[in-house]
Amino acid sequence: MAENVIILGTGCAGLTAAIYAARANLSPLVIEGGQPGGQLTTTSEVENFPGFAHGVDGNELISNMRAQAERFGARFEYDLIQSVDLKGTTKKLQGAEKTYEAKAVILATGASPRLLGIPGEMKYYGGKGVTTCATCDGAFYRGMEVVVVGGGDSACEEALFLTRFASKVTLVHRRDSFRASEIMVRRVKDHEKIELALNCAPVEVIGGEDGKVNGLKVEESGKGSRVIPTKCVFIAIGHTPNTKVFADQLKVDTNGYFVAHDNTVSTDLPGVFVAGDCADHVYRQAITAAGMGCRSAIEAERWLADQE
Ligand code: NAP
Repeated sequence: MAENVIILGTGCAGLTAAIYAARANLSPLVIEGGQPGGQLTTTSEVENFPGFAHGVDGNELISNMRAQAERFGARFEYDLIQSVDLKGTTKKLQGAEKTYEAKAVILATGASPRLLGIPGEMKYYGGKGVTTCATCDGAFYRGMEVVVVGGGDSACEEALFLTRFASKVTLVHRRDSFRASEIMVRRVKDHEKIELALNCAPVEVIGGEDGKVNGLKVEESGKGSRVIPTKCVFIAIGHTPNTKVFADQLKVDTNGYFVAHDNTVSTDLPGVFVAGDCADHVYRQAITAAGMGCRSAIEAERWLADQE
């Protein structure tokens, strides 16, 4: 029998949708994919989620949301959805080994870290010195010099986090002005362990004889190229929305984000709703993702009631 509602994704958006759908007695099935818990599980302290005057650990926030959803009857399964048919009355989602069916679907599939696409990046990715997660890998570089690439809040946050372990953090940014918020830029500039390499575009990850990263070659505008010595390159240059599997059925914009109807969470397909970073290229905050998750569950509930 078809589920009432299937929620794809267990980040802030998916879990908030699960809490609301579960409290509405819809007994939602939540499918968690490649990154259970979403992006907050790769961050350290979350300082701007309302209700936590002294900040909250990202993993703790997510596991509390999940426990809250489970308390009201949300069920969780791990699977990677390979293809979907969302056009009919019964929505079909093909997992690795089974097909799921639902009357309504909430897509909260989030976004994945973007990579630089330069030589050496993939060769040294994962365990050999190139990574997108300081929280996961920072402790491996205790006492070493590391590089963070990017000029947004993520890069600043990663750089500050890495000062706990590294002897020196060089923040490499391709321009001389930041996308990050004032407060983060100020903290980065004031930190004695952080050095800025501005107007520097990364061009190659350089390896050493041990088969691991040894430096990052950058092109500094007007000054030519140089190699910044480092044992690790932390890439923090934004994210790509996880919408590829659905892009033949749902409207996406030029950057691949789901397009909902004007300022809503509803899509062109009846019974299909979107929430969080897969559908928001503007705000991309934990709290806005949670807000969209809430709205999508309420919309799904109303839509299901209308079908009866
Ligand atoms: P972002 O704001 O999009 O910044 C990405 C940065 O990477 C930009 O500085 C960009 O350079 C640089 N970049 C992109 N492609 C590049 C390439 N190929 N080579 C070199 N540099 C490249 O992404 P984000 O920092 O991940 O932040 C995303 C959202 O999450 C933002 O809304 C941010 O406020 C939010 N966030 C908030 C917090 C917090 O509040 N604590 C923490 C993390 C993230 P240009 O500037 O030249 O384009």
